[in-house]
Amino acid sequence: MSRPRIVIVGAGFAGYRTARTLSKLVRHKADITLLNPTDYFLYLPLLPQVAAGLLEPRRVTVSLSGTLPRVRLVLGEADGIDLDSRTVHYTGPEGEGGTLAYDRLVLAVGSVNKLLPIPGVAEHAHGFRGLPEALYLRDHVTRQMELAAGADDPKSCAARCTFVVVGAGYTGTEVAAQGQRYTEAQVRKRPLPNGRKPRWLLLDVAPRVLPEMDERLSRTADRVLRERGVEVRMGTSVKEATHDGVLLTDGEFVDTRTLVWCVGVRPDPLVEGVGQPMERGRLLVDPHLQVPGHPEVFACGDAAAVPDLNNPGGYTPMTAQHAWRHGAVVARNVAASIGVGERTFYRHRDLGFVVDLGGVQAAANPLGVHLPGPLAGAVTRGYHLAAMPGNRVRVAADWLLDAVLPRQAVQLGLVRSWSVPLDTASPELPRVPDSASGPAETSTGGAPTEPPGPVRRTDTPAEED
Ligand SMILES: Cc1cc2nc3c(=O)[nH]c(=O)nc-3n(C[C@H](O)[C@H](O)[C@H](O)COP(=O)(O)OP(=O)(O)OC[C@H]3O[C@@H](n4cnc5c(N)ncnc54)[C@H](O)[C@@H]3O)c2cc1C
Repeated sequence: MSRPRIVIVGAGFAGYRTARTLSKLVRHKADITLLNPTDYFLYLPLLPQVAAGLLEPRRVTVSLSGTLPRVRLVLGEADGIDLDSRTVHYTGPEGEGGTLAYDRLVLAVGSVNKLLPIPGVAEHAHGFRGLPEALYLRDHVTRQMELAAGADDPKSCAARCTFVVVGAGYTGTEVAAQGQRYTEAQVRKRPLPNGRKPRWLLLDVAPRVLPEMDERLSRTADRVLRERGVEVRMGTSVKEATHDGVLLTDGEFVDTRTLVWCVGVRPDPLVEGVGQPMERGRLLVDPHLQVPGHPEVFACGDAAAVPDLNNPGGYTPMTAQHAWRHGAVVARNVAASIGVGERTFYRHRDLGFVVDLGGVQAAANPLGVHLPGPLAGAVTRGYHLAAMPGNRVRVAADWLLDAVLPRQAVQLGLVRSWSVPLDTASPELPRVPDSASGPAETSTGGAPTEPPGPVRRTDTPAEED
């Protein structure tokens, strides 16, 4: 009899853990295929440190083929799921199509940037959900600081060294905290005209920073940011974004060339196409993480609405902590469905949060215990090292180097503004030019001034940098 075919779509926190655990549980009793657009697992919580030049981008990745030897990796993005014929259709990295047949399917496609209908935001803001966006931001911020340092016009200088981050959840708070330190370090090496300081604004409609976390974490983050000069503007958002700046909801117009959109995420739109009951864009599953009426289909991570048994009537939040543990439960239940072990249901209580604020500062409450300043910083870094499924030594080495050497502020300019639009279903991939028409060169021989044609699942043009 042929071995059951298990297809896992997505190799993030949930999908990677599913693949890793399953390959140990079922060994040679099933064929496991992992479909993912990149050949790496991305450790998202350290992405703000990539944008701030603290960690090199490869440090926050873990090779899939290098760490999952018994799993077949197929590079590509799923673009259609047929529950009747039990097949997944995908598009590979060079545009070729393919189909995977399954006996068990695990959907773990994560989430994408959340958009709000605010004029100009889709055109002028950039999200922070993938490695391309982090690389873009690192280069962009470096370049703005270099241009500000050389600017004759004070207005232009002020606009270039002003950075607006919208959304004070853990992503926006870390981007502002790490970014401020990065620009401060640049100013120390090359001061801005007239002793000007970089200006960072962190906005949110919520009344406090880290609104979904314990209030003591909010107070710590708020204090650290304000002490560093970050303008923490709660109860405030963006009314309109333009090429020259942003109009805030309190009526102020801020001249800036940088708008970072961290207002949250929404489930990957792929799961909508499955045609099964949804809960706020997430695919509804039962406590065993199975899709009702389709016991052969499992879903987990940000893309799944998983009942929270500790909070009856609620669903588990979209965090790495839950996605990672969903993956272990899905693996057990898939294995049980083919006769290996017993199935189980999902229940997990939050173990606290760690928010790295740069330097030795962090806001952390592991197991609910609120930790002060440098101790929180040490625990936060230790937590990340323990939680990463690989590459720990390289991450620790980068931290060590950053402690003793000045940070390297150079921009390679490899990820352009148009290749990381806010409105995309594929934040893990930079948008690439249509190979048929090819990118148009500018007169200076640089990158194209126009987005050269969509090939990924996105249509929104963005301004050129
Ligand atoms: C900057 C940032 C910082 C964060 N920090 C924290 C933190 O400190 N603590 C915390 O608990 N949470 C944090 N989160 C949230 C956490 O990262 C997510 O909740 C978690 O990644 C969800 O796991 P997942 O497996 O569902 O999705 P992901 O980890 O995003 O993985 C989804 C995978 O699916 C792949 N994929 C997407 N579409 C397709 C497709 N069509 N076909 C095939 N593959 C596809 C993607 O490439 C990716 O590999 C952070 C998020 C961000 C963006």
